[in-house]
Order: sequence, then C-alpha cells, then structure tokens
Amino acid sequence: MKNDYTQDGPIGMSLQGVTKYFNEVGAANGVDLTVRQGQLVALLGPSGCGKTTTLRLIAGFESVDSGIIEIGGQRVAAPGLHVPPEKRRVGMVFQEYALFPHLNVLDNVRFGLRNAPARGQESARIADVLDLVGLIGLEKRMPHELSGGQQQRVALARALAPDPALILLDEPFSNLDAGLRVRVRAEVQAILRQAGATAVFVTHDQEEALSLVDQVAVMLSGKVQQMATPQELYWQPANREVAEFIGDANFVPGNAYGRHIECEFGTLEAQFSTHGPVDVLIRPESIAISPAPPSDAANRVRSQLFFGHDQLVTVEMANGRMVNVRLGPTYQFAIGQPVAVQVRGLVMAYEKN
Ligand code: ADP
Repeated sequence: MKNDYTQDGPIGMSLQGVTKYFNEVGAANGVDLTVRQGQLVALLGPSGCGKTTTLRLIAGFESVDSGIIEIGGQRVAAPGLHVPPEKRRVGMVFQEYALFPHLNVLDNVRFGLRNAPARGQESARIADVLDLVGLIGLEKRMPHELSGGQQQRVALARALAPDPALILLDEPFSNLDAGLRVRVRAEVQAILRQAGATAVFVTHDQEEALSLVDQVAVMLSGKVQQMATPQELYWQPANREVAEFIGDANFVPGNAYGRHIECEFGTLEAQFSTHGPVDVLIRPESIAISPAPPSDAANRVRSQLFFGHDQLVTVEMANGRMVNVRLGPTYQFAIGQPVAVQVRGLVMAYEKN
C-alpha cells in the first residue's frame, strides 16, 4: 500500500548539491534528493555509483565537501558544519545487522536508546518497538538463537526505538536467501509503514527497489539522475542511461513529428512531444510477435530465455538489429522461426545530442 500524502507532504530529509571527493574522484557529485515524511525511498544504482558514500554523508560518518543536508528540519551538514551522527536523529540498519553477539534481544534494543533523552520510560518504549516488530516473547534470546529475518527485526527495533526522524537501511536484504528475502522485505515494509517512518534504502537490486518503495532515486556516476515512482521510472525514464539501467531496453533510431515517431517499426505514438532525430525506447513488454511465412527478408527468433513466469525472446530483425521481446510462459517459438513484429502502446523518444 502506498501512502498518498507522501508526494507533497512535509520534507523529512533533503540533500542539495552534495559533493564528496576521495582523491579527486567525486563519489558524490552534486546529489539532490528530497524525501517526504513517511516516504520509503530507494537509492538505487550500480556498484561504485556513490550510494554508500551518500548514505554515510547522511548518517554523518563522512563530512560533505559542499552542499547542504537537512534531516527533520535540522541542518546537519554544510561546508563548515558537521553535526555528529548521534545528534542527527538517524537510525541505521546495516547489511550485517551489527547486533551485539553478547547481548540478548532486549539489551540490543536498549542500546538503541543510549542517546535518547526520555530516561525512565525506556522499558515501555522497548516493549512498544518489540511489539511493533513482532518479537514479544523473544526478549531473552541471544542473536545466534534467532533466524536471519528475526535478527533483522531486532536491528530494525533498535533503530526505531529512539523515534528517529530518518531510518537508513544499507542493502538490508542481501544476507537473506532468495526465498526468505521476499517475505522479509514485505515484513520490513509493513513495520516501517506502521511506524510512520521516513526511510531510505540503499540497494543495487532493481526488483527490490521497484517492489518495495514509494519513490526510487536512480543514482549513476555520483548523481541522482531521476527520482520517481517505480511505474514512472520504468515507463518514463528521464534519459537513455536510466532507461538502460532499469530493466531491458531496446533502442532504435527514429524521427519525431510531435507525438508521432517514424522508425523501422512504422509510425509509433510517443508519450511526449519532440521534434527531429530521436532514439526510441521500446520495452520488451511492448512488443508482440506472431508466426510469419518464411522469406529471405524475414525477422527470425534467435534465442530464448525461459524464466518460468515469463520468457525473453531475442529476434533478429531483417535489417540485422537484435530486439528483445518479453512473452508470457505459454508462447512457443522455435529458434529460426520467421516472425512478424509489432509494437504496442506508447513509447519514449529521446532527442539525439
Ligand atoms: P556504491 O555504494 O554505489 O558501490 P561507493 O559510494 O562505495 O559506491 O563508492 C563510490 C566511489 O567512491 C567508488 O569509486 C569508490 O571507489 C570511491 N570511494 C568510496 N569510499 C572511498 C574512500 N573512503 N576512499 C577512497 N575512495 C572511496
């Protein structure tokens, strides 16, 4: 379930033009990011794009070279200003959970409250968060007596205990095996929603990002390229780089006349109006194929990847271009089969630079 107020509610956290250099390399290279209160946001990008650096800058483990960071209405970082991590009202959940192995569940969660001002109400708060994450009854267990999913809930309870303005989660599901991951993701999402938490997940896993959050910020080469809902990101990527990073993308050259595009697939309709030479993005889900009579100039099926729930078929067009087509699992095309190719729905067109 998405929160509808999250698109234009009060700001929970913002980064404006944040940079961080390591030996002349801009790990964060002018990062702009606004997260609304109660929003779940994924910072998604390939390895080395600067996600971890950005997370560490937000948490306060690194200081910014330039730019401004605000959390819960408080300015925490700017040139010459560095509020220490424990004063930022940020809760962290690490990839390895970072639980204390010699402390039981209760004491691990209590540790989360070490900097909290409300002394005396600790026990009630701990009981509340343990209830929220569904760990009542397991207070005396040691971390090694818990499953991976339960350990993660302890980490989440510890982060949520002081009622932080922001929760940061660093690749929180990468330690779980594939079967468990989907379930634990849904649990963590439900817990964060119930807590009304504002949260930023760092992940390199597209499926995880698209299925988990309200907004995905795609980071490439030290910059947020686009922040949008999962649907928008997939169907309306801001540029070619984002389109190629998210999912599978077919590109063909074309000419735009407003919303009409002329290309080798005929006349297509674009989502937005442009003019002149363009690159046309056609998602594999937007292409249909059907058997065609054999001919020397036929498009032919060249390969098939069967995934169970669907399949990706590669067609070599008569002009030599390879095109990926996503089909349901029941279609059967033989390798070498001649096919007719048809594009359905609206496409994106990018003006050539
Ligand atoms: P990601 O989390 O997206 O994989 P990082 O933020 O870890 O990316 O790294 C971004 C870039 O900054 C990489 O080129 C990395 O090598 C470099 N980098 C990160 N931290 C340091 C550091 N402490 N010292 C030097 N270079 C670093």
